[in-house]
Amino acid sequence: MRTVNILGSTGSIGQSTLKVIEAHPDQFQVGVLTAFSNVDRLIEQAIKFQPNLVVIGDPDKYETLKSGLAGTDITLAAGCDAVCDAAAQKSDITMAAIVGMAGLKPLMKAIEQGGVIAIANKEPLVSAGALVLAAADKHGATLLPVDSEHNAIFQVFEKDNAKSIDRIILTASGGPFREWNRRQIEKATPEQAVNHPNWSMGAKISVDSASMMNKALEVIEAHYLFDMPADKIDVLVHPQSLIHSMVEYSDGSILAQMGASDMCTPITNILGWPERMRTPGDRLNFKQINRLDFEDVNHELFPAVNMAYDALKEGQEACLVMNAANEVAVSAFLDRKIAFLDIHKVIIDVLEKREAASLNSLNDVISYDKVARDRAESLIL
Ligand code: NDP
Repeated sequence: MRTVNILGSTGSIGQSTLKVIEAHPDQFQVGVLTAFSNVDRLIEQAIKFQPNLVVIGDPDKYETLKSGLAGTDITLAAGCDAVCDAAAQKSDITMAAIVGMAGLKPLMKAIEQGGVIAIANKEPLVSAGALVLAAADKHGATLLPVDSEHNAIFQVFEKDNAKSIDRIILTASGGPFREWNRRQIEKATPEQAVNHPNWSMGAKISVDSASMMNKALEVIEAHYLFDMPADKIDVLVHPQSLIHSMVEYSDGSILAQMGASDMCTPITNILGWPERMRTPGDRLNFKQINRLDFEDVNHELFPAVNMAYDALKEGQEACLVMNAANEVAVSAFLDRKIAFLDIHKVIIDVLEKREAASLNSLNDVISYDKVARDRAESLIL
């Protein structure tokens, strides 16, 4: 029996993680569940999976949590510090599935307690990759990628032949606006942006997929997770999302990982690692696939990917600022305060006005992130 702590259990990744755990009751028990405000779903999950500790980030929801779980012997807590304390609880596997930089502090706490850290939450890696890796090294934690592209690379990455890797090819669906023109994209609504053609995901990552910022974040994520320079990471649009990514070796061999567009596969892969377990999710049926298409990114309409390459060249500060401004702008777009294409304008503006800094500690990262967010907010108000 392995204990799994789930940070962000009520989200899309959190729910898929519980689906995998439910399919393997003889192998896993849930230690900790955390959420931010979806108290009803958290109560349902707690009753079903009987964790030791349940934490709600929003303190206003604590009384509801308490009455919903009255009569159980589950320990309850509320607030952001309590989410961090929950992340520090000993476990065999921690699923880091909070969305955005809100996941950074809990991730660092989870790393300190060691074990396997299954990383779905990519934003902390993008903004503080060096710190996250150094902490994992120091505390002996094993970081494993849940993001479907990085999980695909993880599965076909021959560590012993790393020097013979010519490039990593990250595939991208192209998102819901792949075939739209600028005039259409200018008028895109939040409903259209979150309507991903292949994947069912949380709102923030869905908007990131529509702008291709998700792929931009993933280029930086791949750089840190696989220690690859930017010029060895390529992005290729593959609208069917069946090849989840590829690694090309110097002998010309390209190893790809395929599967249905269902996050249960990478989650099952990581929870089962180093063995293979049965997924409770969808399976790929080759007889129902008519074709596999590939095309280049339309960089004119989707400039985010090139922004990531520039940010990687410029360094950690640029990566952090790009992510912070994007989080603020996406939230404003979802709240209908700005138009879809304004997301890019906000990021560019905040990137151009950033000041030099050294990001040597968690506090440095948090302060610099706040400055970038304040600047982005000031452009939106
Ligand atoms: P969701 O928005 O569906 O879920 C986010 C989770 O984080 C929820 O449990 C939410 O709680 C919790 N949360 C939100 N804000 C806070 C906060 N301030 N403090 C503590 N907890 C918080 O996101 P996804 O599951 O889609 O994505 C999670 C992460 O995984 C993201 O970083 C995303 O990029 C990455 N990812 C997601 C994929 C997917 O298929 N969804 C694929 C690959 C990567 P509540 O529900 O109460 O608001």
